[in-house]
Amino acid sequence: MAGDGTIVLALEGQLRLDDQPALHQAVEQARRTPGGRLLMLAGRPQAQRLRGPHQRRLEAQALASMRTRLAAAHVPLLHTPQHTTAAALASLRSELAPTAVLACTESRLFADWPIPPERFPRVFADFRRGLERQPEAPLPPPDLAGLEPPQPMGAAAGGDPRSAFPFSGDEPTALARLQHYVFGSDGLRTYKDTRNGLVGTEFSSKFSPFLAIGSLSVRRIWQELLRYQELRGADEGSEWMKQELLWREFFLWSEQQHGPAFHAPGGIQNRPPDWKEDRERFARWTRGDGGHPLIDAQLNELRATGYLSNRGRQWVASHFVNELRLPWTWGARFFEWMLIDAHPAVNTGNWAYLAGVGSDPRSFGGSPRRFDLERQVGLYDPEQTHCRRWS
Ligand SMILES: Cc1cc2nc3c(=O)[nH]c(=O)nc-3n(C[C@H](O)[C@H](O)[C@H](O)COP(=O)(O)OP(=O)(O)OC[C@H]3O[C@@H](n4cnc5c(N)ncnc54)[C@H](O)[C@@H]3O)c2cc1C
Repeated sequence: MAGDGTIVLALEGQLRLDDQPALHQAVEQARRTPGGRLLMLAGRPQAQRLRGPHQRRLEAQALASMRTRLAAAHVPLLHTPQHTTAAALASLRSELAPTAVLACTESRLFADWPIPPERFPRVFADFRRGLERQPEAPLPPPDLAGLEPPQPMGAAAGGDPRSAFPFSGDEPTALARLQHYVFGSDGLRTYKDTRNGLVGTEFSSKFSPFLAIGSLSVRRIWQELLRYQELRGADEGSEWMKQELLWREFFLWSEQQHGPAFHAPGGIQNRPPDWKEDRERFARWTRGDGGHPLIDAQLNELRATGYLSNRGRQWVASHFVNELRLPWTWGARFFEWMLIDAHPAVNTGNWAYLAGVGSDPRSFGGSPRRFDLERQVGLYDPEQTHCRRWS
């Protein structure tokens, strides 16, 4: 066989050992190859923009943990954050002549279109009802002889102590959080009632940052939800959580379906722009100085921690579009840089929805939905806990 016996596994932004079909293949191939050894390459995925500061911190934690686990099995991990896999391999040509290069793929519930692309719906409700298959089961981590799982790193060093996501990004921490939220606390059971909260670690699962850097598999989450439902019944909390994971899936497949239109200013509805390109107003908004205390508090939290509750994100986007009348793509790009869980398809899908150019059925032929912020505060932050914390 050609090459120096090295089997390279390009992680492509999937920073875990659990549920990685390509890792199983790579291990098998390394075992079959005379003198075969495995090398992991953590470059920049081809389609991914550079990660922002908060997500980079999380990524570094996940990589440090993986490197320790892999070192025990004599598997080196090379990190080339500025280079795609192809560029990294080209620059290593003098030192490395891989026998094979395999690549991981993003964690999704379905490996292939759950609804054929020619019939893929524009609206989530049709997606959920039209699913033609069940989500697929996860694979366990492969046997890398001698590998000892490290302890979860738990609390993250260097983050803002007020953060609603005070966790390290590594895989053991992700799996521990999954067990805690599903089985160890009342989190999942009460999820439907608490999910619109704004402060603290327990109002929602906090799975998204782990999903964004690939240190947690969405199929692993789904399987644990099924196990919970078998043991405790399909309550409202667990059903609602499944629905939210399907929203993520809907946006991932929608992006694939619509191509560039998905991220374009007119969105999948191809609507003409209805905004003002006011750079000064935008700059003030990014600094948390946009003039509305509720929104400014959200921006302050976002910049300090990278995390925002779903409710907070909705307020910010709605205010950005309806009150500030700025181009939604500017807001989306800023979020994509700042969010610790930034994911282009999920972020754009939500922004376009709220800007009235995406998959919100109410906006087809009409206007974007608008949040009445004074009423929202009364409902979700009556004591102004969030506002005071981040003013
Ligand atoms: C303007 C805006 C931008 C957003 N940008 C992102 C982003 O870049 N990355 C991201 O992961 N989520 C994004 N979301 C969706 C949502 O706000 C976050 O997924 C959620 O707040 C993360 O916290 P959690 O994991 O505790 O969520 P939970 O409420 O515990 O939900 C569990 C999981 O379901 C999925 N989910 C929940 N809500 C949504 C949703 N509205 N759309 C798609 N999937 C969802 C996520 O994977 C999440 O981790 C955005 C929402 C808005 C309104």
